[in-house]
Amino acid sequence: MPERTIIEPFRIKAVEPLRFTTRAEREQALAAAGYNLFALAADDVLIDLLTDSGTGAMSSEQWAAIMRGDESYAGARSFERFESVVRELTGFTHVIPTHQGRAAERILFGELVATGEVVPNNTHFDTTRANVEFQGAEARDLVCTEGRDLQLDAPFKGNLDLEALEATLREAGDQVPLVLVTITNNSGGGQPVSLANLRGVRELCDRYEVPFFLDACRFAENAWFIKEREPGQQDRSPREIAEEVFRLADGCTISLKKDGLANIGGVLALNDPELAARCRDNLILTEGFPTYGGLAGRDLDALAVGLQEVTDPDYLRYRVRTAAYLAEKAWAAGVPTVRPPGGHAVYLDAGALLAHVPAPELPAQALACELYLEGGVRAVEIGTLMFGRPGEPGQPDLTAPHELVRLALPRRSYTQSHVDYVGEVIAAVAARAEQVRGYRIVEQPRWLRHFTARLAPIIG
Ligand SMILES: *Cc1c(COP(=O)(O)O)cnc(C)c1O
Repeated sequence: MPERTIIEPFRIKAVEPLRFTTRAEREQALAAAGYNLFALAADDVLIDLLTDSGTGAMSSEQWAAIMRGDESYAGARSFERFESVVRELTGFTHVIPTHQGRAAERILFGELVATGEVVPNNTHFDTTRANVEFQGAEARDLVCTEGRDLQLDAPFKGNLDLEALEATLREAGDQVPLVLVTITNNSGGGQPVSLANLRGVRELCDRYEVPFFLDACRFAENAWFIKEREPGQQDRSPREIAEEVFRLADGCTISLKKDGLANIGGVLALNDPELAARCRDNLILTEGFPTYGGLAGRDLDALAVGLQEVTDPDYLRYRVRTAAYLAEKAWAAGVPTVRPPGGHAVYLDAGALLAHVPAPELPAQALACELYLEGGVRAVEIGTLMFGRPGEPGQPDLTAPHELVRLALPRRSYTQSHVDYVGEVIAAVAARAEQVRGYRIVEQPRWLRHFTARLAPIIG
């Protein structure tokens, strides 16, 4: 059989029109936004690749489930359906819904993590790090060596460095309240973690008697990569692999805005009954009663369906192929990316493409602005605007180790022609890369400056 195009495994039943703008309109909108893409009105964006979180399209079965939602305050049928789907998928006995992933993190760490402790992870996502640090603990990133080399093509660059984990457990064993592994490793480029690595983590956690939790936002994409790349896994279904992965851990936090295939939701699931009881008490303070946890009954029903749809092999083949296809478009235009492409996003290497723009002049932000001006495509800067900060008085500003632009792909929302268009926009910007100028920061807040900073182009 010749290779056929991997098509979208769905047809479209409801459409949301896109609004086209002229270049002049985009120039005006971007200037008014202080050259910060977060400050743009979504209406001024044509293709929105800011995030894959909560931006996907639901299926007709999910919309049908919305109508089945039981909005009873306590003991709703929607909760029973959600709980049984999460239990079957993960094997965890206690299922605690939350309004999104970071609420599950806050509750779990609030009960488990204390001042001065150390939480290892492959790479902490920013909300995970913030919630660990909020407890006064250290969030320690221990991603494997290959994971730190952007250009290296390796199958499992999200793996945790097991030797480094063992060293941490040996030195600080009783100060490690849990070990986390993020699947896929979002902050490390959406790179997967192998089954072998997860089994290694389980073994170490058993030996040092430390609980092992997954940050499992993209568990289905991770299972697909295991099926495609890990020896001996080719004949298993993504669902079987996902079930095994969850059963290696003692619990998980999940933002269901990703592989839950819905627009809102999260969950904390775990086996320890005593810890679960404490987490439920904590949940009631801010999220709500334990059978809805900050969600409507209809959300729980949509999630119960989404969590079953997401491991469909046809969906995952299309999903992972979309990111690879977009990366190939970038390479063809001479734009390097983080390799190999991750499951949910393509990361353009702005540091390489705009080598004439020094890091303090925000080359990744400059590239993100150009993609918007050229074609109305909104991406997010992951570079010095996000991770740098002003230097001490008389010292230079601190810059980030890499200057990346992330193009995150909402689930089931855009078609192949949309992706082709984004490829054309990247190519048009790459063709005039040497004319692209940097930016300076005019105004910035003290924390998380990339969300609200105002910038100005550097002229001359
Ligand atoms: C999105 C995400 C979170 C936080 O989830 P929210 O639903 O945005 O609160 C935590 N960890 C990872 C890896 C994520 O991708």
